[in-house]
Amino acid sequence: MIKINKSGLPQGIIIKTEKDYRSEKVLSILQQDFFNKCYVCEEKEPTSINVEHFRSYKNYKHLKYEWENLFYACAHCNKIKGSCYDHIIDCTREDPEDYITMRFNSYPENYVETLERRNSAENMETRELLDKVYNGAGTPISEYEAKNLKKRIAKELKEFTECIESYQDERDSKLRAVYWNDIKEMLNRESNFAGFKRSIVLQSKELMQCFGELMN
Ligand SMILES: [Zn+2]
Repeated sequence: MIKINKSGLPQGIIIKTEKDYRSEKVLSILQQDFFNKCYVCEEKEPTSINVEHFRSYKNYKHLKYEWENLFYACAHCNKIKGSCYDHIIDCTREDPEDYITMRFNSYPENYVETLERRNSAENMETRELLDKVYNGAGTPISEYEAKNLKKRIAKELKEFTECIESYQDERDSKLRAVYWNDIKEMLNRESNFAGFKRSIVLQSKELMQCFGELMN
């Protein structure tokens, strides 16, 4: 999860029905605000898009049509979150990076761990949700989806770490600048699974010294 700066709802857009919050105008603002990424798993350009209720409308009926409560998510995450995780870290108000570090393990099998950086009341629910999203929620479908998701994260992180190694090994200043820009792009919050890449840098003193300035 990464920090999202959600814009205000432009004047003239009224949300009073389900059709309203699934309208082209609302979707386009959400897509832009959330960098076209699911705010839970961070997959970019998800093929299944859901307008997600941060606090579920099952438990918070009065928030069903509230703009502040509408988030951009993929179907996999929306289904797992359901009405069970109403008190996770609100990435539109807090920076999840201050509270949680992501860790991707690739051996003996792909497995996602979350580490607590700073304590907060929402940490436990957030970490439990992320565990289910990335490692499966007990049903064969969710596990198959989670495995596919982790394959995509592994591919992305392989490219990222290779790019860092290339930058560190390269002596030609022009090529180094090219790698530097690639790394900058990959560490941008807009990038696919940025939270994982940023966590790799955040957890390493050496990488922070080198790339910390790109972690805006
Ligand atoms: Zn997702």
